Amino acid sequence: MEKYKVMSFTNNKGSEDRLEKKRKGGFWLRKWDSVDVTYVFLFMGMHILAICAPFMFSWGAIWVALVMEVITALERTNILGERTQVSSHAGESRSGEYSNVPELKAQWFYRFLHSTYIWHKVSLAILLYILGGFPYLAWVMGMREVAIHHFTYFVNSVCHTWGERPWNTSDTSTNNWWVAICTYGEGWHNNHHAFPKSARHGMEWWQFDLTWEIIKFLGTIGLATDIKLPTEADKEKLKVRQHQTNKA
Ligand SMILES: [Zn+2]
Repeated sequence: MEKYKVMSFTNNKGSEDRLEKKRKGGFWLRKWDSVDVTYVFLFMGMHILAICAPFMFSWGAIWVALVMEVITALERTNILGERTQVSSHAGESRSGEYSNVPELKAQWFYRFLHSTYIWHKVSLAILLYILGGFPYLAWVMGMREVAIHHFTYFVNSVCHTWGERPWNTSDTSTNNWWVAICTYGEGWHNNHHAFPKSARHGMEWWQFDLTWEIIKFLGTIGLATDIKLPTEADKEKLKVRQHQTNKA
């Protein structure tokens, strides 16, 4: 080990240093545009508010934050998200998966939502402040936003590191129960990678998947159509068999 370290140190020091500098420069020293600056302030503000939240305990604020957390998480990351193939799962898109994006862009309503996104947040913040003052702002715009963002990132980090892999996928995706609880079903991520088009992520009855229950309900009342699920043949192809794991 020591030998290897010395070797790589002497052979590659120059290029490694250059690479490191470039990596650092690429992140910190690149030209920042107004979108970057806006996001830095948005994320900093959100975290500062979240830190303040526990110091201003208010049942009203906590309830509003909880209810809005569920609604926002469900519609942003799950239902309006990739399960209906509207938005993207960063870095993991597969060909054809987001074929309805041009279709959405053609509708003025979705263009309006997209172009005025930041103002929805600003008006919500103002409304909350009028309703309940700073505690409402801290819990709903701070704690709730921070929780939603980190839970969403857990799907791409924790669910590629810790958990079960019942399906033979060519990646590192895992099913993680506690991420699944925090994200209303998105944590059954090995299931999702195995069957990316499936509207259902919790494949077993015990795999909590609130998003799937809501999609099922939307299907029953006719608001969701063409709901996709994996066939038994699809499952058979990817199932991890006991003898395979024993051999490996
Ligand atoms: Zn993934």
